[in-house]
Amino acid sequence: MQTSFTNQQLENKDNKSSETILRKCVHCGMCNATCPTYAISGNELEGPRGRIYLIKDMLENKKPANKKIAQHIDSCLSCYGCMTTCPSGVNYMHLIDHGRNYVEETYKRPLLDKLFRNILSYTLPKPKIFLILALLTKVIKPVSFILPQFLRNSINLMPNKIPSKKIKTQKVYPSEGRKTVARVALLTGCVQRVISPEINESTIRLLNRHDVEVVVLPKIECCGSLNHHLGKKELAHVSFVKNIELWHKEYLKNGLDAIISNTSGCGTTLKDYGFIFRNDKELKKKAKKISELTKDITEYLDENLKLKIKNNNDKKYKIAYHSACSMQHGQKIHEQPKNLIKQTGNIVLEVPEGHMCCGSAGTYNILHQKMAKSLLKNKVENIEKVSPDFISTGNIGCMTQIGGGTKIPIVHTVEVMDWLTGGPKPYKLKNF
Ligand code: SF4
Ligand code: SF4
Repeated sequence: MQTSFTNQQLENKDNKSSETILRKCVHCGMCNATCPTYAISGNELEGPRGRIYLIKDMLENKKPANKKIAQHIDSCLSCYGCMTTCPSGVNYMHLIDHGRNYVEETYKRPLLDKLFRNILSYTLPKPKIFLILALLTKVIKPVSFILPQFLRNSINLMPNKIPSKKIKTQKVYPSEGRKTVARVALLTGCVQRVISPEINESTIRLLNRHDVEVVVLPKIECCGSLNHHLGKKELAHVSFVKNIELWHKEYLKNGLDAIISNTSGCGTTLKDYGFIFRNDKELKKKAKKISELTKDITEYLDENLKLKIKNNNDKKYKIAYHSACSMQHGQKIHEQPKNLIKQTGNIVLEVPEGHMCCGSAGTYNILHQKMAKSLLKNKVENIEKVSPDFISTGNIGCMTQIGGGTKIPIVHTVEVMDWLTGGPKPYKLKNF
């Protein structure tokens, strides 16, 4: 694609990298075929190619975003299905990130929209504040019928029950064996640690049982991706910088073989720290190191450990594996989670149209409820077609979204692997 940035515009490093991305696009439109928002709306501007044109036009012509442009950029799920399909290797992820930041800088959002986005940005990345909010919504839920539909739907996404933590909070969780084969840091997350603490507990137990020491740095909370995808660059960068400095210090001082993420949305962002800080003289090497060290838990288990499977069940479970977009499109992790489940002797079922998003996408199911509901409906129909006993996935957002649309239990892949290597059975599978 031809571009017409001036030399002065290209002095801006973000413009420069977006120009390189834009030049790779041959506007063939193949990406539209796998774009969920295009599939549902049929509108060119609701597809990747249309959004690419909108971003190009804003950046080249220094055009502030208007309501229409903001809506089309906001309605992108950042599922990156388009990147998997694109034959020209267009890095849509970096382009839409730049586009979102630009919209946030130049568009004056309606007051309610701005307020709601600010509330999400302030509450979700802070576990203690999010816990208060979750408890508050539990109280409000029975009378939520008096609230507008939009708020009612948002409240319904909050958990009915906040599970209590089963393992003691500590900084270092030592390996169980006499030898320690590796030392890893774990990102325990913000929303996930409140609504599903069992995911971190399974991760720690499973790693410790396989002679891996796990370090949880208490000051690390959010990976920054929630604000990053809301276009709130400054707030996201506060989290990024804090995390890079803390983990890098730990890496230098005590050594780290990996940084483990058990939420694929967060892992995708951690793996992008190197790119985000590519022009920062102080941080670029450290950020690159953090990205290199980051592994999804399933990637780490499959590639580094020989798991001690203890599946004594005569029954073979049929497990539908739902690959989160951030896992399959963002991190290109396809086979590892399925390999792990297959090792347990159970049956992995592929979900039809598995490349399509379930509609969760960070805060998307709160901000774009109609589209998110349509995508959820399609996803649940496709999962139910293969009649699984339960569903396994690697992203808390998908677990919440899909769990709200079907009675089939949904658990994290690491909970399955913990259970089938000697850990407790996930409570959602207690009837199995
Ligand atoms: S498939 Fe790739 S090259 Fe073709 S329009 Fe989409 S982004 Fe551009
Ligand atoms: S990231 Fe997903 S929703 Fe956004 S343009 Fe690409 S395929 Fe469509």
